Amino acid sequence: MSAPSIGVLALQGDVREHTAALHAAGAVAVPVRRPQELAAVDGLVLPGGESTTMAKLADRFGLLGPLRAAVAGGLPVYGSCAGMIMLADRVLDAPADQQTLGGLDVTVRRNAFGRQVDSFESEVAIAGVEGGPVHAVFIRAPWVEAAGADVQVLGRVEGGPADGRIVAVRQGRLVATSFHPELTGDPRVHALFVELVQAARAEDLSSTGAAVGAGSEEKS
Ligand code: GLN
Repeated sequence: MSAPSIGVLALQGDVREHTAALHAAGAVAVPVRRPQELAAVDGLVLPGGESTTMAKLADRFGLLGPLRAAVAGGLPVYGSCAGMIMLADRVLDAPADQQTLGGLDVTVRRNAFGRQVDSFESEVAIAGVEGGPVHAVFIRAPWVEAAGADVQVLGRVEGGPADGRIVAVRQGRLVATSFHPELTGDPRVHALFVELVQAARAEDLSSTGAAVGAGSEEKS
């Protein structure tokens, strides 16, 4: 199968770093700013940045509706930090009018690690990522305060005041991390997402193939 084409929502945030990490993980990365660009990708990354600003810009660019529809329609999406907030069904410590895309059955708390700890780094073991823990960079990061039954916890903080807090999750085709793997030069988290995108493509192709097959059988 050819390399998947993965969009990076390019309204605000660390788009360039995600683009590089996706390349390193074997995908073709393309910026997404318009609904037509969104329609052409096999998967999407929502970068870190500022979720309130990102949501406002997405609204202004006419992307909120198409993004919600894409998530609901099964587009694989990986959200990092502000991107995790965008994917969350429930957000704590957010302005009352903050819009998200939703889709991920989690409650996230914005800026959860406390004001005095704007950023910190830690080693986090991620389920499905081989070769030892990843170096996780947290920048005014959210954590997952509660996760629904269908959400798989992929990683938690180990040690320190945030010990045990959930910082990486997956639900179906949606993946989210509180931290920024795109900043460390380690493409393993992006590789995990690229694998998910490949699997989703294969699944969609085989279900389309099955439908065509069934159709032609009926005719004969
Ligand atoms: N604190 C930011 C927000 O609420 C997220 C920070 C980040 O993406 N690094 O959107």
